[in-house]
Order: sequence, then C-alpha cells, then structure tokens
Amino acid sequence: MNIENEINKAFIRLKKNNIQSAKLDSEILMSSVLKKNRKFIILNSSQNLKKKSISIFRDLVNKRSNGKPIAYLTGKKEFWKNEFNVNEDVLVPRPDTELIVEQVLEFSKNKSKLSILDIGVGSGCILLSIILEKKNFQGVGIDINKKSIDMCKKNTLKLKLRDKVKFFKSDVDNFNYGKYDLIVSNPPYINSLKLKYLESDIIKFEPRIALDGGLDGMSEIRKVIDKSSELIKKNGKLFLEIGFDQKYKVKKILKDKGFYINKVVKDLAKNDRCIISTKI
Ligand code: GLN
Repeated sequence: MNIENEINKAFIRLKKNNIQSAKLDSEILMSSVLKKNRKFIILNSSQNLKKKSISIFRDLVNKRSNGKPIAYLTGKKEFWKNEFNVNEDVLVPRPDTELIVEQVLEFSKNKSKLSILDIGVGSGCILLSIILEKKNFQGVGIDINKKSIDMCKKNTLKLKLRDKVKFFKSDVDNFNYGKYDLIVSNPPYINSLKLKYLESDIIKFEPRIALDGGLDGMSEIRKVIDKSSELIKKNGKLFLEIGFDQKYKVKKILKDKGFYINKVVKDLAKNDRCIISTKI
C-alpha cells in the first residue's frame, strides 16, 4: 500500500460518513502519522507505507469517521500565529476566538508593560498568543479544570514563555489574586438546553464544561463580569467572547457593574462575538 492508495481509501470512508473535508482530513491524518507536512504527503504519494503506519492511520481514520475532531486526533491546532497542543480536556481553539487576540493587540499597540488575566484559560491559546507578541506583558491564567492547566503549561513550555505566565487551578468565584490592566475570557456561553443542537463533533467530543453556560447561557458570563469588576484596575479593559444573541444582555450586565462599552466586534460569519469594555 502506498500513501496515495491509503488516502483514497480513507477519503471514501470519510465521505461515506458525511465528513465534509474528507480529502483534507485524510491528508492531515497521514501527515500526522508520518510526521511530515502535507506537501511531503502530496509529493511522495507513491511511497510505500510500513505496516505499523498503515495500522495507526486506519485507526485514526476510523475515529475521524465517528466524528472525533481532527485536532484531537493529531493533538494539535493552529491558532493565531502558532500551533497549540490540544486534547479532549480543552476546547479546540476556534478562528472566531482570534478576534480577542486581534483586539487586545490593537488596543495595546503602544503599551509595553501590562498585566493580563485569562479566565478559563483552556489550552492557553488566547493568553499565550498575546504574550508571545507582547514580551513585556505578564500573564495569569485560571481554569477550573486541572487537566486543562496541565495542557496550558505544556503549551507554555513549547512556546518558551515560562517566566511570563502563571497558572492557577481555580473557579472564577474563588479567585482573588492580583489586579489586572486587561482581562480576557472565552467562557462557556451555550444555553444548556441548546447544547444538543451543536454539531455532533462538538457535543460528542469537546468538554461540556467549556461550553455549557447554564439555563440562559449567561451564568458563567455573569460570574466572569462580577469577578472582573473586582480584579480589574480602574480604566482596565475587559475582552469577552459572547454568543451571537447575547449582546444586549451582556451590555446590560457590564453597565450595571460599572463598565463602559467600547465596541462589539463581529466574527467572520457576521455574528456579534467579542465585546470590549472599560472599567470606569
Ligand atoms: N463558539 C463555541 C462553539 O460554538 C462555543 C464556545 C464557548 O461556549 N465559549 O462551539
């Protein structure tokens, strides 16, 4: 069996199981098994495969055909300018979430020394992407899930940011360390009753705790805003990812807690996705 034959078989298998990007996924999985990039896979498609590689590849294709996200199969996901390690303890970093990074960098263009807190840090993709670009920032990340802190620390080592960031396993309510110029968060914000309508790849495999925002989808957002209003410095800025239909509710909570709304930014699908406010 050569690379091309295996990829073609995988393609047919994945297509049959309604995986949209069947060709691309097959190539990514082959790259991951052979530890080569996609270009190599395409240019060397007639190369024969070892038995061991074939069996690892088929096992991955099998899992993919059951809906397991490609990022959990390869253990990696590109986000902003880097590749992050991921596993099923953390949400797969989303392109929409890059909005927070973009907005923080835009805001802090002329600032060098700021302290930043990420509430629900997950894989660390937001916080670490920012710190990589702003070498004088100091970061703190918290997460309720110890395993996600472990993943975050792995990414911190991989990106060589060990002396720039600290992590704590803590829920948002009980965290009381430091004062921050910037706070970022992508909290769980999906209404519990609507979780079942998410794509099955998401709901079957991604951590529910990172998605479930309670019966109105707002319970974690509320906690994040409450805590931010305590831990943020005067004139500090809060960058929050929100659900497409949560803008008005979130604006109201922010105003009640003494935040001025700077702007709401839409994602690529033109949904309201990121709200930026200032503590006054
Ligand atoms: N945007 C994510 C999704 O649609 C949800 C992320 C979250 O709840 N923070 O799956």
